[in-house]
Amino acid sequence: MLLKLFSHCLTLSVWTLWCTQTALAQADTDLGKSFSQATSISQLTHDSTLRSSRGRELQVIATSPAHGDINARFLVQGGLHGNEGGASAFVLWLASRYVKGESLLNQLGPAVAIDFMPYANPDGELASTRSNERGVNLNRNFDVLWGVSRENPGSTSFSEVETKAIRSLFAARHYTGAVDVHGYINWIVAPSTPEAITALGFKPDAERIAQYRRWRLAFKQEMSVLPGYQLKTGAGLGDGGAFEDWAFWRQGVLAHCLEIESAERFASSYRPDFNHFASLALRALRESKVDTFKRYEAFVYRMFVQAMKIKQLPAEPATLAGK
Ligand SMILES: [Zn+2]
Repeated sequence: MLLKLFSHCLTLSVWTLWCTQTALAQADTDLGKSFSQATSISQLTHDSTLRSSRGRELQVIATSPAHGDINARFLVQGGLHGNEGGASAFVLWLASRYVKGESLLNQLGPAVAIDFMPYANPDGELASTRSNERGVNLNRNFDVLWGVSRENPGSTSFSEVETKAIRSLFAARHYTGAVDVHGYINWIVAPSTPEAITALGFKPDAERIAQYRRWRLAFKQEMSVLPGYQLKTGAGLGDGGAFEDWAFWRQGVLAHCLEIESAERFASSYRPDFNHFASLALRALRESKVDTFKRYEAFVYRMFVQAMKIKQLPAEPATLAGK
């Protein structure tokens, strides 16, 4: 009996060890093995310094429009907080559907291209930490309302190589819209209001404010596909230096933050070992969360359509309009 128990424990230990090692190896996955479109910020910007603090590539699955013309390019980013593995899983799931032509996002038309960056904080993802290698919350390190934070926002705005890399990516890729996917709670985080950012010293111009009003209306309209979700802003939450505030107010990119539902928070994100099992969780998420993921896909699609409307971009290139 004792021998049988010992044998059982040994088998269990070996299995656990195998799973841990396999998951750790896969958590550092080279996206090039799965996506022929895999590249990196350092390659897209021709700047080899734009890697993580530990020198890891910031991988991007960069798609091209089906035809030569391009009307709009979008960014789907996840993993800025390295311990929110559900966000990276969703970005990978979406990228996989998009490159196969199976996503709702493909209906944006042949003149649209999308970049997917599932691991925006690859060192944090490997270490299962919210912050980067240097202990900085990257989603507080951008330069609109920088320093308004209860967490470490870095020594200055853009003090971190990962946020510098994202800034350079924007300069190279000229996005129309962007979504930053997180895995914390059932919120959509819109850019902060003009009133809030003006009160905190940032002065937007009238045209950008008018655009903001339209973007806010879009949230109200499209959040119908996410029942139970609340609309927040960084400033409203007491958080400055957020990605969507910088992307919208500084870059003019119609951006938002999508938090994966609150169930994820309790099931996944708050488990310290979650990212060690990210690849196993990814499979489970693909199988069990597909309906949830499809709802998020619908929301992202609708917000990208709204972004194109606000920027007055046709969903189809003019040459194809008559077909
Ligand atoms: Zn987060």
